[in-house]
Amino acid sequence: MNNREKYTPWTHTYHVETRAAQGDGWRSPTTGAVPPAISMGATYARDSEYRTPAGLAYLRDQGAPGFEQVEDVVAGLEGGSRGLLFSSGMAAATAVFQVLPAGSRVVVPRTMYFGLTKWLLEFGTEQGLEVVQVPMDDLDAVAAAVAAAPTRLVWAESPANPTWTVTDLAAVGAVAREAGALFGVDNTVPTPVHSRPFEHGADLVMHSGTKYLNGHTDVVAGLLVLAPGPDERAAALWERLELHRRLTGPLLGPLETYLLMRGIRTLFPRMRQISATAMALAEHFAGHPLIRKVAYPGLPDDPGHAIAARQMSDGFSGMLSLHVDGEWQRSLRTAQNCELFIRATSLGGVESLIEHRYTFEGPGSTSPKDMLRVSVGLENPADLVADLEQALERAAKEDR
Ligand code: PLP
Repeated sequence: MNNREKYTPWTHTYHVETRAAQGDGWRSPTTGAVPPAISMGATYARDSEYRTPAGLAYLRDQGAPGFEQVEDVVAGLEGGSRGLLFSSGMAAATAVFQVLPAGSRVVVPRTMYFGLTKWLLEFGTEQGLEVVQVPMDDLDAVAAAVAAAPTRLVWAESPANPTWTVTDLAAVGAVAREAGALFGVDNTVPTPVHSRPFEHGADLVMHSGTKYLNGHTDVVAGLLVLAPGPDERAAALWERLELHRRLTGPLLGPLETYLLMRGIRTLFPRMRQISATAMALAEHFAGHPLIRKVAYPGLPDDPGHAIAARQMSDGFSGMLSLHVDGEWQRSLRTAQNCELFIRATSLGGVESLIEHRYTFEGPGSTSPKDMLRVSVGLENPADLVADLEQALERAAKEDR
């Protein structure tokens, strides 16, 4: 570990908002600069006794000096014990599956970020994993799948991309624990502002730092966080993850590490405003004559609302999906007609995005064709509502 020296060590335990805003109070140990220095070294000089002055030898081995701050801050926000920074969310998620022994059985959601499903089916199975896909919102199905044969890992994502299906994390975590399986949770969408999976029995939390943590659509990054007081199996897995990163090198560059930390400083106010706007949009379009359905766990009649209301706090995040009425092509045209919503993939930035997931995912997509995925940003909610209204109206008119 590096950059251990804090300029002004804190003597109190502060609230998470404070920890995020001040990046846990870290300073550049040499200059005292409030934002940490960006250190570009790939290798580090040793003194005449062959010692490494700051414990750093090589970038792939220990990461850049900025790593430890991001890892500590995100671990702190999640209530975990340690963090591990990766070059992407996929690098972080696939690391977990790659370090499992060949032949491991893993139970994963049928609906989750489609890239991870694709990797598991294309490469995970080739590497000897038995991948069992279940509807994670059906506890009986989860329990039956886990009981059917010895299971090494249960994976969940809640709300799950792109349908925002809610998983009862505490219940699934209990099923996993009882069966002796580890429980990993992708917490990218709710972020620790709205959900803390370690409070519900997770052993491991994963993030695409590309999304809300960075929040400015200019970095691809990933993180893993280890549970507080991890049991032996989780601690052993973590050791393998550290070694895996060291030996395979999915590291974030120093500049991107700096940008990620800068984004994390404003995570709380961004998420609160984004979630409030997403709620306003969901309420506006629920029951709208040109919309068949709005999928958003904040809506009282959403199938996952009761569980989401119990396990999330302070809002339901900024992701929702609109199912457009009429022929499915109308959803595509609605996206075409948007001026303010940017037609782009990804999520979690300050600018609102809209995406026809079925078209983006291509062959094998399980996304409904009438569905537009919306990532809500920091714009004025009235502007966003007006843009979608005119886009829907024009698309409907073309059908008449
Ligand atoms: N998890 C979720 C929920 C995502 O939405 C994504 C990307 O869209 C990922 C993981 C993968 O992250 P990355 O693109 O940083 O590899």
